[in-house]
Amino acid sequence: MGLLIFFSTMYLLLLKAGILGILLSPQVLDGKEQYEGHQVLEVVPQNEVQVTCLKDICRSSLLDLWIPLEPDGIRVRTKVHVRIPSTALQSVKEDLLRCSLDFKILIENVKDIVGRIKENKNVRHKRSLENYNYEQYHPMEEIYSWITQMADNNKDFITQHSLGETYELRPMQYLKISQPSSQPKKIVWMDCGIHAREWIAPAFCQWFVKEIVQSCQSDPKMKKILSNVDVYVLPVLNIDGYTYTWTHERLWRKSRSKYHNGTCYGVDLNRNFDVNWCVEGSSTNCSSNAFCGDSPASEPETKALVNFVEKWKSDIICYLSIHSYSQLILTAYGYTTELPKNYNETVKVAQMAASELKKIHGTDYLAGTFAEQLYKASGTSQDWLCNQGIDFSYTLELRDNGTNQFILPEDQIRPTCEETMAAVMTIIEYINDKYFPNVASVSSVSLWLFTFTALQIVLCGLY
Ligand SMILES: [Zn+2]
Repeated sequence: MGLLIFFSTMYLLLLKAGILGILLSPQVLDGKEQYEGHQVLEVVPQNEVQVTCLKDICRSSLLDLWIPLEPDGIRVRTKVHVRIPSTALQSVKEDLLRCSLDFKILIENVKDIVGRIKENKNVRHKRSLENYNYEQYHPMEEIYSWITQMADNNKDFITQHSLGETYELRPMQYLKISQPSSQPKKIVWMDCGIHAREWIAPAFCQWFVKEIVQSCQSDPKMKKILSNVDVYVLPVLNIDGYTYTWTHERLWRKSRSKYHNGTCYGVDLNRNFDVNWCVEGSSTNCSSNAFCGDSPASEPETKALVNFVEKWKSDIICYLSIHSYSQLILTAYGYTTELPKNYNETVKVAQMAASELKKIHGTDYLAGTFAEQLYKASGTSQDWLCNQGIDFSYTLELRDNGTNQFILPEDQIRPTCEETMAAVMTIIEYINDKYFPNVASVSSVSLWLFTFTALQIVLCGLY
């Protein structure tokens, strides 16, 4: 009994110090991410007692929650996805059964699917832009080189810029796609990869640029849009984290800034913006995947985007932040269930986008606010931009819905990008028509005048 009390006390002390979380981290186990024997489970609590029980299990073992991100976000009859390290698997399953919580194994062994993509990486070598494979995931060096080649090969309308530097001093390169125009233009901003492990997001940003380049001369819709708006694309926002997912830990989410004298790393950059900062769905504990940082915009990556938006906000008409997974098109807000003033219009556009997306491969997406459809979260880039006056501020959560989660196989890159392209273009086209109605309205007014005049002539003739 005395021994039990001793171990319980030690356990609580370790928990308090955040040390248990570090022990459970695969990167600390052997210096290299392995995930051998880790499983991802789906649990759906059916009542409040089960919700409390599940929250306790997640908290006491400091498990890697994927949906929601924090135990506080667990709700009745809402699915929970959680990664369990092999060392904790048996005890967690026993705890779940004790609480009468049924569970489904979504991923039998995380190592197996992580390994598949890592093996592919080793056989790659440098490619020219013509041979660039958009149906593979690329490490950051290849994306940097792709950015430079994309700008070099399309000098007349694509330029390469730096938004700032990451914590580890990597340049945050973005592309500006801008057709020459004598009229003042507006800005559509898209960033991908604010969360390191969501590899499909940077893959989409690259696909998106490639599609624009291929269709800007031939597609009248694209031509019209680019005559009014400049499109800015930041393929990877959290570059340090993304690099780390290739070198150390595939399922790393946050940035890589050092906290507490190097005992703890990384801020969830999508909880670091100055909007109800660190209140809902975020954590002050650096070991948490939803750590909000020391203060709003404490991180250089956040600050870089904030500086850009503060400078250009009167010109930005649309903000698109690409994530995975869950198949959602999300409008503001995430930090509150209150609705922004233009909610009806933004959600209508999101529904239109989901319906266009479905036409491509039949994939179902839901549209709605971040807080309704996902979970409450403070300090997101989407909410901060919305409150800066950018009315059309969206988060897209791409495939899938729980089968492969963050480790989406490469054979799904093409269909995911094709359907996402349809959704994104629906949003951009709507906003373009709203802000630049001249062409459409002039032609419809002319048509109306023509009809009216013709009718008068006919009527006059009759009389
Ligand atoms: Zn994300």
